[in-house]
Amino acid sequence: MIQLKNFINGEFLNPIQNQWLDNYNPSNGSVYGQLPNSCLKDVNFAYEAAKKAFESWSNTPIEKRSAILLKIASLIDDNLDRFAEAESKDNGKPISVAKRLDVPRAASNFRFFGHAITQFQSESHETKSEKTINYTLRHPLGVVGCISPWNLPLYLLTWKIAPALAAGNCVIAKPSEITPYTAFLLGEICNKAGLPKGVLNIIHGKGANAGQAIIEHVHIKAISFTGGTETGKIIARTAAPMFKKLSLELGGKNPNIIFADCDYEKMLISTVKSSFSNQGQICLCGSRIFVEASIFDRFKTDFIKCVSKLIVGPPSNKSTQIGALVSKAHYEKVLSFIDRVGSDGSKLLYGGKRVHVKDHEGGYYLTPTIVQVESNSCQLNQEEIFGPVVTIMPFESESKVLEMANDVKYGLSATVWTNNLKRSLFFSEHLECGIVWVNTWMQRDLRTPFGGVKSSGLGREGGFEILRFFTETKNICINYK
Ligand code: NDP
Repeated sequence: MIQLKNFINGEFLNPIQNQWLDNYNPSNGSVYGQLPNSCLKDVNFAYEAAKKAFESWSNTPIEKRSAILLKIASLIDDNLDRFAEAESKDNGKPISVAKRLDVPRAASNFRFFGHAITQFQSESHETKSEKTINYTLRHPLGVVGCISPWNLPLYLLTWKIAPALAAGNCVIAKPSEITPYTAFLLGEICNKAGLPKGVLNIIHGKGANAGQAIIEHVHIKAISFTGGTETGKIIARTAAPMFKKLSLELGGKNPNIIFADCDYEKMLISTVKSSFSNQGQICLCGSRIFVEASIFDRFKTDFIKCVSKLIVGPPSNKSTQIGALVSKAHYEKVLSFIDRVGSDGSKLLYGGKRVHVKDHEGGYYLTPTIVQVESNSCQLNQEEIFGPVVTIMPFESESKVLEMANDVKYGLSATVWTNNLKRSLFFSEHLECGIVWVNTWMQRDLRTPFGGVKSSGLGREGGFEILRFFTETKNICINYK
């Protein structure tokens, strides 16, 4: 049994009340370890450590902070296999995906913000006629909270921690209780890289306890949260009366719009990925596929053919493309959506079945699932499933597909496949979301703003946007007449 601990003030500690949670391996449903079931006392203890560390860390020269972040990045690279094995075991994702995507991206997050902070500038404005000069200072906020979900555990946790630390804040982080393992390993790496004690503290436990204690803490100045929209609402309700800064990256139900004039083969390969990567458990997955009517039948046949070739299997197999879903509860939630197929005129085209994997009988495996729907207003098109389930439906006109794409409460990302420049510009402007991909999917440049509109969230992370979020500005106006 692996026993994870909290990382507070550079030390690995048991939870103060000595309460523990089981940690499951979704590839076979077994318990393989325990993690702290932390409470308010653990959060308060971490806060004291972070508060003490803040004075020195916020005054540490940028070059030194940057060097520590770059060192963390290279130590993550050096430990690629160890991190990838832990991530795959915790989450059920194919080890190949953890090695190719999750762990390298976690290293890139530290590397990127280690560099970005050295280029982060403040503005100055001179008004000659009035003989004034304004300049803006950007101070770190103090102790901040970073709360992340289970789908890309280390990738998303470090996406928050790295800019917070780079900007000179001290952090209390809480990874998902479902996938805590890599966050635990990160503590060790931070000590090796020379990150001073108390600058980063990682608390494990339930969202409703440890997470809520972070949100409610009066002296934690800002919360960067990625997770579900309902949790986002709870966080906003709690934090708003305290005027905490909030960055909320929430759910999605992203449209993938395919026009007949697209580069068909490229679109097909990418659409398989945007539908089922990470078992469809990526907030950016294109789960509503709209296809121009003239190519709908061709697309349907080819898409089913490609998807039927995807290999569902144990995450540890190199050939596996679709691993296990993250937990029993999530598996049952996804299956409950599949059970509703047919009730509203929708039709199961492929998949939708439990997969029994030899020697992994207790695992949460599901065939990638394609459903044809009649209307965008059906539940399958309106609710976030967050699993390997996509819907397809034909459209006749630009105006109709734009209306359907926007007719959903979410607004995270959208993909458009077309070789018509005017159309791609028109859709890019009018789609209600924070990110549009044209003729590609999930190509990420860490300098770009990242986030959604409507129920997909509040604020932008990435690049200088998140460094601005993690700093407080103060403008100074000097008259030199
Ligand atoms: P949840 O909202 O359930 O949990 C996210 C994190 O919040 C977890 O660490 C959770 O802890 C914690 N949490 C839960 N309740 C509270 C609370 N009251 N106070 C503070 N923290 C709390 O999301 P999931 O983990 O289920 O992740 C899936 C969701 O995340 C999907 O909706 C997906 O779209 C979204 N997501 C959004 C992304 C984006 O960039 N917009 C990217 C990736 C995912 P615990 O696990 O212990 O409950």
